[in-house]
Amino acid sequence: MALLPIAEALECYRRSLRRLPTQRIPLELALGAVLAEPARAAISLPRFTQSSMDGYALRAADGHMALTLIGTAAAGEPAQVVVGAGQAVRILTGGVLPEGADAVARQEIVERTGEGIVLRESVRVGEAIRHEGEELAAGAVIAEAGQRINAGIVAALAMAGVDAVEVYRRPRVAVLITGDEVVRLGEPLGEGKIYDANGPLLRAWFVEQGYGEPGISYVRDDKTALEEAMSAALDSADLVVTSGGVSVGDRDFVPDVADRLGVRKVFWKVAQKPGKPLWFGRRGSSWLMGMPGNPGAVLVCLAVHAAAVLARLEGEAASMPAWRIGELAQGVESDSGRDRLLRMDIVADDGRLRLVPLPRQESHMLSNLASASALAWLPRRDDAYAAGELLRYIVL
Ligand code: AMP
Ligand code: MG
Repeated sequence: MALLPIAEALECYRRSLRRLPTQRIPLELALGAVLAEPARAAISLPRFTQSSMDGYALRAADGHMALTLIGTAAAGEPAQVVVGAGQAVRILTGGVLPEGADAVARQEIVERTGEGIVLRESVRVGEAIRHEGEELAAGAVIAEAGQRINAGIVAALAMAGVDAVEVYRRPRVAVLITGDEVVRLGEPLGEGKIYDANGPLLRAWFVEQGYGEPGISYVRDDKTALEEAMSAALDSADLVVTSGGVSVGDRDFVPDVADRLGVRKVFWKVAQKPGKPLWFGRRGSSWLMGMPGNPGAVLVCLAVHAAAVLARLEGEAASMPAWRIGELAQGVESDSGRDRLLRMDIVADDGRLRLVPLPRQESHMLSNLASASALAWLPRRDDAYAAGELLRYIVL
């Protein structure tokens, strides 16, 4: 069977996935969610004309004379006075500019003289003043639909009085770990058994990406057990990820069981190394990603494929995965049949980012992840890759 090129798998997600429903949620719960409509300022910014310095509010034209102090305007406490000719008000940064004043003399150029002040320098009209609405008018768009809400967006919206936002519902994720050989940390490691790496990898990745704790179930290599677990997962989640059992071994039941449960296959097997057996399908509004058992393959399937699927489900405008361009630091072998996805270390070298290939890249190996900062994409070809070539990569 022909292998699907990675680019076509990504195109497939773009075409076939529909966005989840939207919901209105309080801003303080919105970090990590994707905006479903533009978020607009509820108030103008600044809300009122104010001082940008600690100093004295006055009329610029009076700068040459001795001025009488008639009050104080601290931040949050407007002075209840009007500044007339020959008068000034002590004002602090963020204080409301009193009526009548048209400039603020910063305190460094002012001398106190008992009841009043004298300026050592003249001031211009508008000096040290932030005008109402100069940054944004009420109703101005601060963040667009399709933007993922980060700390900066949270802050910008809070400042503009936006207390709730319309976002796409976060996807619910369920994980099934298959394999009779797989043992969880803390359990005895019997003959022929291995510690589970994929459960911790998948859990950590989804949590790190902001999706919260996925439901994780462990399933024996048994059709009935798998059918039960997969059926429950499909009922509860928007995205079900399985690990293992998706290849062509005698105990690889994922494709059969998925088929039996009415999951319609979109594709099976991608021209990538590692991660070739990736299976993708749909039942109703739930999606199933059957990932291979090798942890190195799971990593690739997460960083490249799950990232793309989740971005589509959430209506994220930025195309995912977020590829960047880096320079290969040393030559590496290519593969003529499948694109390689190699773990690399990003090293800054005189302002240039270089990708240094790591040893121990086999799909069953994971120990180099402790040093891996990037996953680089080396499209299939006959010739090896040489130092200095530019490659696409994802930051891990
Ligand atoms: P499979 O895709 O089920 O044939 O598994 C491929 C390889 O990945 C085998 O060597 C498995 O033992 C290994 N493997 C499967 N599941 C896990 C897991 N959860 N953690 C670590 N290795 C696994
Ligand atoms: Mg297996």
